[in-house]
Amino acid sequence: MIIDGKKTAAELREELKKKVAELKSTHNAVPGLTVILVGEDPASKIYVKNKEKFAKEVGLNSEVIRYPADLEEKVLLNKINELNKNDNVSGILVQLPLPKHIDKRKVIETIDHGKDVDGFHPMNVGNLSSGYDSSIPCTPLGCSILLKKAEKNLSGKHAVIIGRSNLNGKPMTQLLLKENCTVTITHSKTKDLKAECLRGDIIIAAVGIPKLVKGDWVKKGAIVIDVGINKTDTGIVGDVDFDQVSKVAKAITPVPGGVGPMTIACLLNNTIECFKRANS
Ligand code: NAD
Repeated sequence: MIIDGKKTAAELREELKKKVAELKSTHNAVPGLTVILVGEDPASKIYVKNKEKFAKEVGLNSEVIRYPADLEEKVLLNKINELNKNDNVSGILVQLPLPKHIDKRKVIETIDHGKDVDGFHPMNVGNLSSGYDSSIPCTPLGCSILLKKAEKNLSGKHAVIIGRSNLNGKPMTQLLLKENCTVTITHSKTKDLKAECLRGDIIIAAVGIPKLVKGDWVKKGAIVIDVGINKTDTGIVGDVDFDQVSKVAKAITPVPGGVGPMTIACLLNNTIECFKRANS
């Protein structure tokens, strides 16, 4: 089974469109998403453009604030503080990476945690790991929705995560624990990655190394979610060798067309959830 992220994301956006219309009639307001882009990073520019496009598609109030790369940190922090106080703004996203002279941690911590649609604020990280209601980082949330497409009940499954970033691997661990999985989290210092992967009923690859996971690293019947987006001479590929692994896995996400489209759909979902929490 190839898990179709493009189709699943389109279905989710349709659901979100209905939710926004409902909120419009019950609250006489629609959730608002403000994205801040600093600098000219080409990949970030594409991501932001897509975020704006899909936010509009589901009916959110969407705004993009663009700053030059030499922006002073305090100008950015002041803008965030202003947005924190603006009731029309339900969600704030500062596109990463930021230029080196801007302190990423300070920026993340300045965003009101109730408007932190990325789920990176320490309050949301803590709430997620404590099992409380919180914004959930968009990519892991998308992965867990795709996993459920392949297997409804994940309880007792052994999940192996490759990569321990704050963006992907760590929050993914929390989501899988919530599903009662046994979780192994691996990283660049893991001794025998192949052996760890072979133990997985589920493999989540979030590394950034093209086609790292080979066919003989995967147990027959495993579910494989490929988060990687790697530019190569032959185009965009994931962290999983799709041709090899698709022959042994029960279900697998392709790259492109797998996790990528889900990330933006989950961002829109998180904006609506922030609005609902603020207005409940
Ligand atoms: P990162 O660089 O922050 O983290 C990579 C992780 O991989 C680290 O924890 C590191 O320890 C681990 N690692 C590195 N080499 C390893 C090795 N040889 N064996 C095992 N582990 C190793 O990366 P990230 O931000 O988590 O992104 C990972 C990948 O996911 C990238 O390709 C990125 O482009 C992609 N990504 C995709 C989406 C999406 O929407 N699909 C979103 C974010 C990131």
